[in-house]
Amino acid sequence: MSELRLDATQLDRYSRHVIMDEIGPEGQQRLLEGSVLVVGAGGLGSPAIQYLAAAGIGRLGIVDDDVVERSNLQRQIVHADDDVGRPKVDSAADYVAALNPDVDVDTYETRLSAANVAELVEEYDVVLDASDNFGTRYLLNDHCVLTGTPLSHGAIYRFEGQVTMFTNDRGGNAADSEGQGADDPPCYRCIFPEAPQPGTVPDCATTGVLGVLPGTVGCIQATEVVKYLLGKGDLLEGRLLMYDAMGMTFDTVDVLANPECPVCGDEPEIESVEDVAYKGSCSISAD
Ligand SMILES: [Zn+2]
Repeated sequence: MSELRLDATQLDRYSRHVIMDEIGPEGQQRLLEGSVLVVGAGGLGSPAIQYLAAAGIGRLGIVDDDVVERSNLQRQIVHADDDVGRPKVDSAADYVAALNPDVDVDTYETRLSAANVAELVEEYDVVLDASDNFGTRYLLNDHCVLTGTPLSHGAIYRFEGQVTMFTNDRGGNAADSEGQGADDPPCYRCIFPEAPQPGTVPDCATTGVLGVLPGTVGCIQATEVVKYLLGKGDLLEGRLLMYDAMGMTFDTVDVLANPECPVCGDEPEIESVEDVAYKGSCSISAD
């Protein structure tokens, strides 16, 4: 680690982190040197961006190709009424600039694709998937498995959410390992091998979503990313957290690596994201 260089303003801003033994000035510096790519500046991305910026993550990349609509404001709290019609990445970047000058923001007003995923992801330590469609979710999973990139997963549906963390630490990348080992962590495809067919799963616009729901889920994702960067605590690795807002219950189920997984299994079919036709239209939730 490089020498400590928190200035007086930073010691003040991050004092509630710095005074804790688990973080301290070294941990805060690690956050300031950390970088996170947030894919989606919507319901999940909004709270994640806000808390990651407030925590002093030194570099945030934000990917989104949408503009702010009035119907977004019920839950996408990084945007304000005056932002309607503006690109979401610009609105989110302005929010971060006003909150914390320590954070550098890179904006990508584009849709993530097999063609651009490598160049976007390689710039960052961790990816936070705040997307609203299966195409992006599977593309990010496959790319992050193949490159050994940590990935935070979150998804929401009406009154329910799910969160997990994939460190993708398999002692070398899946692409060049000799099949799964006993302790290998699962990936998203180990749990859900294939995306549902487009049109078979309704999206937020047709089913609705409780506005505060993505706030809870996006905050849990941000918590996991901060813990990952600090190297502290027990991550949701190998565990799927399921949140039911109506029942107000949180349940975790253990999830195992699947030896027949098409991307991280013993005989993977997917060796490159170019091998897969990712369909972006089958939105589920994170909208
Ligand atoms: Zn897998």
